[in-house]
Amino acid sequence: VSGEVKAMFMCSCRECQKATGTGHATVAAFASGDVSVAGEVRTFARPADSGATLTRSFCPGCGTGLFARSSRADDLTLVPVGILGEVGWFAPNQLIFARSHQDWDLVPDVPRHATYRNEA
Ligand SMILES: [Zn+2]
Repeated sequence: VSGEVKAMFMCSCRECQKATGTGHATVAAFASGDVSVAGEVRTFARPADSGATLTRSFCPGCGTGLFARSSRADDLTLVPVGILGEVGWFAPNQLIFARSHQDWDLVPDVPRHATYRNEA
């Protein structure tokens, strides 16, 4: 990954809960042109709640999730922060899809949005 991080957030949608096996995904968004991968990548696409198609990319060798792109905003690449190495800089400023947040899942005190930030 090169370039500046465009957004930092957490997502408690059911798909992120299933993909991570926990209560939320921690995501840093980068311009898609700033993200490159050496080696083989497999993808899995499925419809998102928004009606867009979310395509998750993963390593076919070990299954680690690498990044995701939404047809809603494919100029952005969503990277799970944990794969980026030293990530002390991560400072999420919102929780999206708080409507499916679980009480046992501890998150920082940030604004919570039922779905996306710009929707109810
Ligand atoms: Zn999500």
